[in-house]
Amino acid sequence: MNDQAQVPPQPHEIAERVVAAMRQHGSPSYPRAFEVWYAHLSGEIPAVSMAMTGILADGEGKITAADIDNLYERFIGTERLSRQAERTSLQVLGEIDGLMDLVDKALGSSELYHGRLTAMSEDVPPPTDRQKLREWVEALVLSTREEVTRKAQLENALRNSSNEIRNLREALESTRAEALTDSLTGLANRRHFEEMLQKSIDQATLRREPFALVMADIDFFKKFNDAHGHLTGDQVLRLVARTMKDKFKDKAVITRFGGEEFAIILPEADLVAGKFGAETVRQALLTRELIKRSTNENLGRITISLGVATYHRGDTSGSLVDRADQALMQAKRDGRNRTVTEDALETISRVA
Ligand code: GH3
Ligand code: MG
Ligand code: MG
Repeated sequence: MNDQAQVPPQPHEIAERVVAAMRQHGSPSYPRAFEVWYAHLSGEIPAVSMAMTGILADGEGKITAADIDNLYERFIGTERLSRQAERTSLQVLGEIDGLMDLVDKALGSSELYHGRLTAMSEDVPPPTDRQKLREWVEALVLSTREEVTRKAQLENALRNSSNEIRNLREALESTRAEALTDSLTGLANRRHFEEMLQKSIDQATLRREPFALVMADIDFFKKFNDAHGHLTGDQVLRLVARTMKDKFKDKAVITRFGGEEFAIILPEADLVAGKFGAETVRQALLTRELIKRSTNENLGRITISLGVATYHRGDTSGSLVDRADQALMQAKRDGRNRTVTEDALETISRVA
């Protein structure tokens, strides 16, 4: 029996009792009255139960609309308000948490500001105290504004310094590019060639991919200079460089090896592909008649000789350049204006 008595009544059971009691006591039956009676019979608000018991006793079991309204205002309304206040406080805290997250994400964590917000979130005024709540919100806005300004300054400083760093980096890059470029032709210079050749050797060793090295030298260039002047000779060097760039685009590393000599690294090329590339340039130059701009004088054609070697396992940059150079010298000996590949050298040395 005791166990049964301890089971709290279900809401619908309470509601049934409320309806019966309201009828029994001739109570007004509008919603507020229902709420008051419900609070009384459920025991949810003990103060209501005590007051109701007193009113019913005094009024000989009767209760008026004025009594109901009075009870509602005194106990239920305020109770509801304080529950609402609790909910609102929780919402405010939730908003602050969200704001903190946003601030953390958008502005990065700021220890001081975070500390202030935490302190404020622990001291949220009750929503019923409008004055305090307003002051609290003003303090929050002020702190946030200060932080935004501070962050804006910080961001500005960061942006300035990152711009500064970018400028410095660009300046460094252009200095480095300048240091690796031949000023007359705009091709990579000898230093860049050495770097790139070593890189190609490292990659070829790692990936077991072939690559070819072409050495090219202008034929009888001394004579040309003697006949037309050094400045016109410079124009010829530029023309050769441009022709090579046109033919290979960015598929090769084209360099001015020194003087009137050029070196071309052809990635992934075997000897056949290397020879094909070399011949493409040689023939392109053959089609170009040199006309001196100032005098319109026809200077004829210039020719180049080329030597081709490919990377062999164990090659150093020195040994590879040496073989390509020997092939080039062979091309000179064979009468110039031609391409010789390293396999021709091997044949010659075997025959010899
Ligand atoms: P070969 O066919 O055997 O290569 O004969 P060559 O006359 O081209 O060879 P040599 O080595 O005897 O002469 C190279 C010439 O290249 C000498 C030099 O005046 C010229 N030369 C080297 N660098 C430059 C340059 O920057 N500008 C000009 N105009 N000429 C240069
Ligand atoms: Mg020459
Ligand atoms: Mg030379």
